[in-house]
Amino acid sequence: MRHRRRHPVLVAMLGAGIVVALALLPSCARQVEPTHHVVRAIAQDGSPRLARVLLMNRRERFTLSAAAPCTVYNAVNEDPLLELRSIATTTVRPSANGIAIASRILPHKTLRVVCHRDAALTVNGARYRGHLLIRCTPAGRLDVINALPLDDYLYSVVGSETYHSWPRAAHEAQAIIARTYALWRMASRSHLHFDLYATVADQRYTGVAKEAPKIRAAVDATAGLVLLYQMKVFRCYYHSTCGGHTEAVERVFDQPPLLPLTGVACAYCGDSKYHRWSREITADTIVGAFRRAGTDLVGIRSLEVTKRTPIGGAQQLKLVTTGGGRYTYRGSEFRLVLGSQKLPSPWFTVLATSKGYQFDGRGFGHGVGLCQWGSRGMAAAGRSAAQILQHYYPGAALQRVYRSKRLARPPPAEAADEQGAT
Ligand SMILES: [Zn+2]
Repeated sequence: MRHRRRHPVLVAMLGAGIVVALALLPSCARQVEPTHHVVRAIAQDGSPRLARVLLMNRRERFTLSAAAPCTVYNAVNEDPLLELRSIATTTVRPSANGIAIASRILPHKTLRVVCHRDAALTVNGARYRGHLLIRCTPAGRLDVINALPLDDYLYSVVGSETYHSWPRAAHEAQAIIARTYALWRMASRSHLHFDLYATVADQRYTGVAKEAPKIRAAVDATAGLVLLYQMKVFRCYYHSTCGGHTEAVERVFDQPPLLPLTGVACAYCGDSKYHRWSREITADTIVGAFRRAGTDLVGIRSLEVTKRTPIGGAQQLKLVTTGGGRYTYRGSEFRLVLGSQKLPSPWFTVLATSKGYQFDGRGFGHGVGLCQWGSRGMAAAGRSAAQILQHYYPGAALQRVYRSKRLARPPPAEAADEQGAT
């Protein structure tokens, strides 16, 4: 019997996806009326509403500190509950009657902590702009959400998703696609208590530590610029390294084709260490990964790629178990079960070896949308952010949907660590 099995765990992992990248110059943008997708995420005064980033969920406790005066509000009615000159490192935890913070138990289920003087709040040792929402879940755990202006959020995203040493145009491109992705998410999750995960499930956001003056300058230079297709923001996927050609979105995700995500040739990501790669993975490792993902796999009799995308990606794999069971998986599903470090991309060939299977592949990430290392290569070759975006998202238009009313000041004692993309 042949059947296709798609476990809920796999579907959830795929749904998380990864995202964004692009950049453009203001002179290339036309002033237009925001589309309805954007309007839902933009306030009446023309500025985007605050982005709400889920820093952690269902936690039993976390530490909080601040070096400046803070106010703790009841987030339901905004009544002030506590005025603090500063917050020495304190453990925040749920209590039977509410939330314990700074040696007090506040009888409320949702708190807002606002630090004055634009000072940063420190959560579990990492510093963040904006304010903090602490929400007690029905199960008695804590969700911690960082709410902050969209472009402040982008300062960290661009610094977390790229290397600081990359050329300016690559940072601008990343800022534009990260803004586009965030607005798309802010519209699609407006019914939830947060908009964005702080991980590659959406976009990497690590707080002030990944900012740098050159990163903030690139974000500020692109303020309000987004990519639109048919006058709508779209889920402008991006990834680390394509290895020569980006992939069509419908070949990787359960999504309909979209012109800007049809896949393009890329001759600029050869400097990535993932441009070409090889891995030998034992059968036991594969079985273990699939069992952790919720399957009842015991042993593998054979594993082969049965369908390839037009550019050669492993679109479908057939796995036959030692018990004779036959399963098919998308290449992207198979990769996510094994883990992105073990199997960097869904573009690979597979051969049986004495120990398990030899995978030879190219690229890192799902392969859809902008190739970040390719963007870096195009920028190094003198291309502008607009040209980079035009290449990786054919048919998309660069538009300014709002103008920044405030360019945020850097928070005190800023860090400028070299970091980066994979
Ligand atoms: Zn590439």
